[in-house]
Amino acid sequence: MTKHIISLGAGVQSSSMSLMAARGELTPMPEAAIFADTQDEPASVYTWLDWLEKQLPFPVIRVTKGKLSESSLRVRTSKHGTRYTKHGIPAFNANPTTGKIGIMQRQCTADFKIEVIQREIRRIIGRGGHCTQWVGISIDEVIRMKPSRKPYIENHYPLIDARISRHGCLSWMKKNGYPTPPRSACVYCPFHSDAEWLRLKREEPEAFDRAVEYEKKYQAAMKQTTGISGTPYLHRSGRPLSEVTFGADQADLFGNECEGHCGV
Ligand code: SF4
Repeated sequence: MTKHIISLGAGVQSSSMSLMAARGELTPMPEAAIFADTQDEPASVYTWLDWLEKQLPFPVIRVTKGKLSESSLRVRTSKHGTRYTKHGIPAFNANPTTGKIGIMQRQCTADFKIEVIQREIRRIIGRGGHCTQWVGISIDEVIRMKPSRKPYIENHYPLIDARISRHGCLSWMKKNGYPTPPRSACVYCPFHSDAEWLRLKREEPEAFDRAVEYEKKYQAAMKQTTGISGTPYLHRSGRPLSEVTFGADQADLFGNECEGHCGV
């Protein structure tokens, strides 16, 4: 029999979905929720997670591959002498010839979110077992739905089946007397909207400062690698984060090629 397990990003959608399940509004009751920790979320997300797990009748299992900000900065050398990094984040890089800004290849979600959750699911279901993995994608983000690549996992989208939007999640939380969940993502995630950068800068300045520092270190690491030209930036403008004047009207970019486990 399949085991129902929540992929918990600890943002608005997956938190609301977990609480809906806890109240029996989404069924069946999941066996567990799994949170893949990059160890780089802002403090508000960890505080939220501590609160959330006390509200749920099923366990919240925290798994981690380590600290993404450290692993992504480590410059490695192949046996052929090529210098490279692993676990790349989707930074913005201006083409040195044309000046056109593109997004660098992203490996962080696969390595630090999807893979560690899959490994934990495998441990829970055992050999020959099957999992129905609940993913907290809402009806307004339907483009992010993806089939599972693992035969033993079937992705399930309860918020989409119930036609609930992100705004609907927030309304449901309010109606039921719950606090508003934070947006979950690494403090330095280039997918942040300007509104989220601004919120971090104003409400969690320590987290914003970490992002500014990380950007400098990421640029230094990329400079040491073979074959990457241009300078990576965390903001889509291609300017240093510390110098950006944030507007409040740009949407976040999680809808772009995201596999569904960051930000929800
Ligand atoms: S939140 Fe952003 S930086 Fe962190 S793992 Fe997800 S895509 Fe990568």
